[in-house]
Amino acid sequence: MKVLVTGGLGFIGSHICLELLSNNFEVLVVDSLINSNSLVIDNINKIVSQNKLNVRKMRIYEADLRDECKLIDIFREHSIKESSIGAVIHCAGLKSVNDSVGSPIDYWANNVGGTIKLIKVMEEFGCNTIIFSSSATIYGVGDGGLINENATINPINPYGQTKAAVERFLKDVFYSGNQKWKIVNLRYFNPTGAHKSGLIGESPKGLANNIFPIISKVALKKKDKLKIFGNNWDTKDGTGVRDYIHVMDLAEGHILALKYLNNVKEEFLNINLGNGIGTSVLELIKTYQESNNVEIPFEFVGRRKGDFGHVVADNSKAISLLKWKPKRSIKDMCKDSWRWNLLYPNGYV
Ligand code: NAD
Ligand code: UDP
Repeated sequence: MKVLVTGGLGFIGSHICLELLSNNFEVLVVDSLINSNSLVIDNINKIVSQNKLNVRKMRIYEADLRDECKLIDIFREHSIKESSIGAVIHCAGLKSVNDSVGSPIDYWANNVGGTIKLIKVMEEFGCNTIIFSSSATIYGVGDGGLINENATINPINPYGQTKAAVERFLKDVFYSGNQKWKIVNLRYFNPTGAHKSGLIGESPKGLANNIFPIISKVALKKKDKLKIFGNNWDTKDGTGVRDYIHVMDLAEGHILALKYLNNVKEEFLNINLGNGIGTSVLELIKTYQESNNVEIPFEFVGRRKGDFGHVVADNSKAISLLKWKPKRSIKDMCKDSWRWNLLYPNGYV
């Protein structure tokens, strides 16, 4: 089966591409490189040859999703010459919560506008299977227990609003009855880690705001210390608790979602992808230090605006429906993330 991965050169998309190739899918990538670097292609190819995968099964198109003509060309090329595109894994999008506050137009145009173009072209070519990269950010809750898929949707920043809007749009498309759609919104919690080769990982172009890239910077001594946002949350040690999930576990979840959709006639699903385990900032620092034999100096500062104390997934739906199980621990995430950072301390520059 041929799968189109939008944003396939980004952090999560590149790991999904490798997992697709390992599972014998053919892979097409559409990426504008707005937040990735073409060097990732060389490294994907290295991993592909190290693992004796078939590199000819992967084709890459540098294009923006909003370029409808280009998208049509790609779908047409594959419907005429070869087997058509069977499914889309839609990772392309802008993802910085901070940037989205200052640039809501860019975020809405890219994340929502890009998806509308994509769905329009998919419908035109009779491609009706899509897995969308959604986010736990849409819940806008997070101070209590485990969050399940029925929790209230209430995003508190433009980025989260665009993710919720895309989910809403996909629901309308599903119920339009225009064709038998198969749609899964995978709501990621906190993806981290890297491929075990250390050749691909998270390489954001702008300023990193998430904790893992910042911890790595501190470990590399490119930053003095980690500022911990609050030590008076109602959590086990007062610091924020999150559900970190290894990017390879996440990638495996996509393959299982794809296989699940291949066995149903039509479907619309929302599924959390998280470990279901909460880790505090202090626990994370401790594991990172011990696993990698590095120092992470830190200081406590005030709470970050719009932050939550406790955001952890109820992942039982993914486990029961997709037969998915996260296999990698926080220690694995810390070690893999560090290996990638040691090899590429400045990302792909
Ligand atoms: P990323 O920025 O590393 O990858 C996104 C890729 O999409 C980049 O390669 C970028 O160049 C490309 N892209 C963006 N807009 C595009 C467009 N209009 N046309 C073509 N390509 C475009 O981000 P990521 O961490 O890999 O995240 C992938 C998806 O998962 C995103 O949609 C993100 O919102 C979502 N998500 C990420 C996280 C996270 O913490 N990383 C959490 C929840 C959800
Ligand atoms: N955090 C922190 N210092 C930082 C970045 C993050 O203390 O420099 C904390 C943050 O308050 C939260 C956790 O680390 O409790 C994860 O934050 P991140 O931004 O990575 O994920 P999100 O809050 O979007 O789930």
